[in-house]
Amino acid sequence: MKAAVFHGPGGSWPQKPISIEDVPVPVPADGEVLVKVAACGLCRTDLEYLKVEGATPKPPPIILGHEPVGTVAETGREVNRLTAGQRVLIATAIPCLACDLCRAGQENLCPDMVLVGANRDGAFAEYVTAPAAGVIPLPDSLPLEESAIITDAVATSYHAVYNRARVKRGDTVAIYGASGGLGLICVQMTAAIGARVIAIGRKQWKLEKALEYGASEIISTGEVDSVDRAVKRITRGGADISIDVSGSARMIESACRATRAGGRIIVVGFSFEKIQLSVNRLMWRELNVLGSKNYRLSDMPAIIGLVENGVVQPHKIVSHRFKLAEINEAYQMLDRGEMLRGIVIP
Ligand SMILES: [Zn+2]
Ligand SMILES: [Zn+2]
Repeated sequence: MKAAVFHGPGGSWPQKPISIEDVPVPVPADGEVLVKVAACGLCRTDLEYLKVEGATPKPPPIILGHEPVGTVAETGREVNRLTAGQRVLIATAIPCLACDLCRAGQENLCPDMVLVGANRDGAFAEYVTAPAAGVIPLPDSLPLEESAIITDAVATSYHAVYNRARVKRGDTVAIYGASGGLGLICVQMTAAIGARVIAIGRKQWKLEKALEYGASEIISTGEVDSVDRAVKRITRGGADISIDVSGSARMIESACRATRAGGRIIVVGFSFEKIQLSVNRLMWRELNVLGSKNYRLSDMPAIIGLVENGVVQPHKIVSHRFKLAEINEAYQMLDRGEMLRGIVIP
């Protein structure tokens, strides 16, 4: 089969770190499923893998791609509830479902997580295997290819908005990095709950999308002296909740200044940067700075429900489609912020 194989950054970004190669079709082990990939989403997390030496949990060579959708091609032994031809999503992070954290309902923090496209080969290929526990039937009512973004962008946003931020009607919510796919999905979900949404981002055309998807106000980071002062002005003193999907230390620090006393700051974006936060501010203003990682598999019915109900519309978020051979160019476009969310069709 054709696969996009990453051989390590080696200082080569933004050259061509990924090559298209012929590799054997993987064989599903006991309890695993072989899926014929229909599409796989491009994610900013991969940019960290592409740029930072040693960032992938499985050392290169590795096939990236952790946002797949497709059809079941073959099932390994001990897989009963899935059949060949069935349309399925594959979870980004597949928990063991046996450890203490999994049994406590925090399976997104499982230490034995299987990460398709990070600690084993992923879905920028014609076929991919995954443990059956993370293979989720996709309702016929949803489009096949665009639904790729459900298991990362949509589900990760769900965990941040519903479980960590616990947004409720009437809250004022500032969303940093609202000019990417994840940020725009957070805008859609938060607005649907009945919160007042302030979308903060770099690119004006994407912020216009945020307005279309339910934001009340937008702040373009290039057009204000201070983002936190702009948020405070709009909210008369500070947002109830700030959600950062950018992973930028500068933005998270800004969010900590722009959130009201007793408010919550949710960190969803991923990077290796360090943030500075004064002990005084944290203690005196009782700030709640919370991380938000992946999502719980047990939330998947509710997540798919939000897409079925039209609260989140993947076809509006997927702005670009690429062939496997175009993957290097696709990542460069993602790095330059030129897409909402892109998918690769192998
Ligand atoms: Zn991702
Ligand atoms: Zn576990």
